[in-house]
Amino acid sequence: MYSPDSIFRRNRHRYEPTADMAAGLSCVICGTDLRDPRRSDAVVSAHHEGRQLLACRGRCAHLASGSSTGLDEPPLPLAERLRRHRSGA
Ligand SMILES: [Zn+2]
Repeated sequence: MYSPDSIFRRNRHRYEPTADMAAGLSCVICGTDLRDPRRSDAVVSAHHEGRQLLACRGRCAHLASGSSTGLDEPPLPLAERLRRHRSGA
């Protein structure tokens, strides 16, 4: 039997990416900010509501997608990810 409190706690553990993660602007695993042009090693690791979710190549990508190189799909350019994030699309 679940109390409302335990349901709340269970929901908190449900996978829910932040706005930055959903926009492909931060790693879905470690939260590294991918707006930094030097962070060009991010790979597509999953999809969420039609958007690409990105993770750092290597350990993060492996945790997110099961492959250290992510999905076989190129990420959108950073400028395009930023534009969509700003426009709320
Ligand atoms: Zn990461």
